[in-house]
Amino acid sequence: MEELKPLIRIQEIDSELRKIELELNKKIPDKIREVREGREKAEVLLKQVEDKFQANLKRRMEIDLEIKSIEEKIKKHSQDLLRVDTNEAYRALQKEIEEEKEKKSRLEDEVLELLIQEEELQKEKKEAEQEVERIKNEFARKEKELLREEETLKSRMEKLRQEREKLATETSPSLYKLYIQIASTHGGIALSPVHDGFCSVCQMKIRPQLLEELRKGERIIRCENCSRILYIPEPSLPEN
Ligand SMILES: [Zn+2]
Repeated sequence: MEELKPLIRIQEIDSELRKIELELNKKIPDKIREVREGREKAEVLLKQVEDKFQANLKRRMEIDLEIKSIEEKIKKHSQDLLRVDTNEAYRALQKEIEEEKEKKSRLEDEVLELLIQEEELQKEKKEAEQEVERIKNEFARKEKELLREEETLKSRMEKLRQEREKLATETSPSLYKLYIQIASTHGGIALSPVHDGFCSVCQMKIRPQLLEELRKGERIIRCENCSRILYIPEPSLPEN
């Protein structure tokens, strides 16, 4: 039916426009968010390693001070040893010196342990920094890509809208009104091509009499099940 031709194209355009809108309003922003979240995760990881490294360093400095004060004590006690006059006091001082030395040795072990950890953390930090760097680059590249995609879709949308506007003027007003009415209440799909005698949208078999009328193309035929405007698609041209 000749009258339906612009509408068929309008339907195609509307379906494509819906897809583009979904891309622009949901899919692309979702992808951008995904990439950003990935970058934030990498940054959090780096921050954790850095914090651990700082805490380690702080603890090591504290121990260094502790060791110094123990050394002072040992030195003082050693001098006191020369001045005490009873065996008891001498032994007590010696015991204290021994204890301080043990404490010092334990702290030195801890420093050693911390130094080993620091080396490990230093390595982890470097890796995390590289990872953040890599993700940042990837993010920048992807963002550029997505923005380019967005631009392409917007210009495609503009073109389709212009084509649609022209087509709408070529359609009879009452038919166009019917199209809008059905589309707005039927998920944006107002037209349905008939394939092998079935409505391709709702899969209902078309009655032979209606099918006959449809072939004659004298009036608009709507699917008795889903109300959509039926049409017989033109055979596609063989490709070569
Ligand atoms: Zn139907």
